[in-house]
Amino acid sequence: MNLLKRRIPCLVMAVLVLFTASCVPVQDKDEGNLNITVTTTMLLDLTKQIGGGCVSVQGLMGCGVDPHQYRASAGDVMKMQKADVIIYSGLHLEGKMGDVLSSLESRGKKVICASDGIDRELLIQNDGVYDPHIWFDVCLWKLAAKEVAKGLSAADPENAAQYEANLSAYEKELDKLDGYIREKASEIGESRRVLITAHDAFGYFGKAYGFTVMGLQGVSTVAEAGTADVSRLARFIAENKINAVFIETSLPVKSVEALQEAVRANGFETSLGGTLYSDSLGDAKNGEDSYIAAFKHNIDVITDGLKGE
Ligand SMILES: [Zn+2]
Repeated sequence: MNLLKRRIPCLVMAVLVLFTASCVPVQDKDEGNLNITVTTTMLLDLTKQIGGGCVSVQGLMGCGVDPHQYRASAGDVMKMQKADVIIYSGLHLEGKMGDVLSSLESRGKKVICASDGIDRELLIQNDGVYDPHIWFDVCLWKLAAKEVAKGLSAADPENAAQYEANLSAYEKELDKLDGYIREKASEIGESRRVLITAHDAFGYFGKAYGFTVMGLQGVSTVAEAGTADVSRLARFIAENKINAVFIETSLPVKSVEALQEAVRANGFETSLGGTLYSDSLGDAKNGEDSYIAAFKHNIDVITDGLKGE
């Protein structure tokens, strides 16, 4: 087992060496633009907002993909190797990409960790581990935006003024979003502000906007919810007459349906309140591929589900 663990970084290095050799010279760069590879859909949108016309961005994880479980493919390693800059979220969100990212960084690749701009005192800790879902508090996401702008300016000083201007325009949009969320949240009576989802992604949302938040799985989706977790949460829902529980786009619906069934066995009927974007944004088809649109979708779904008129 230990031997196997030691071999994994060696394998990563071997793949990197292979791609370094095969990818020079780089040919498919957009001329003049900073080429950026990012991990999640949230970062894809954020980087487009800050980078504007000065950058070409591609994301590794598609819409609906769970970042906790995501492993970089050989093709992903090649994309990261070719990029001028790699941006990732950090705090172990991309828990299975740690070796690849640190190998690239140690080989001199410019890597920006978006959560590095956030004071650790502002983060939630569970059992000594920081909660990685920083995008659910708009104020924290603004700090991530600032960190990305700082990193892009350092990588591409010629366009620094443009990145700063894009940042301040986007910060204004984010302030408006924050106001919208607070206004919608105020439509729900305080006793009804209980958000139950498939995994504990919404801790920062709860803290920022005054919701009690409970997840069927923990902060990472790597450990599955046990039957004891389901029964405990089902009893809580029945006793507190919580009228809706929510599905997440990046996780299978079956775990929440099992929870709903367990609540029924406790003599109470809770409905499925709708689907929330948790660890992935939506796609361009439904227009919810931006952070702002996805967050508006979430607060609208939460408000409608919990009002329960
Ligand atoms: Zn998550």
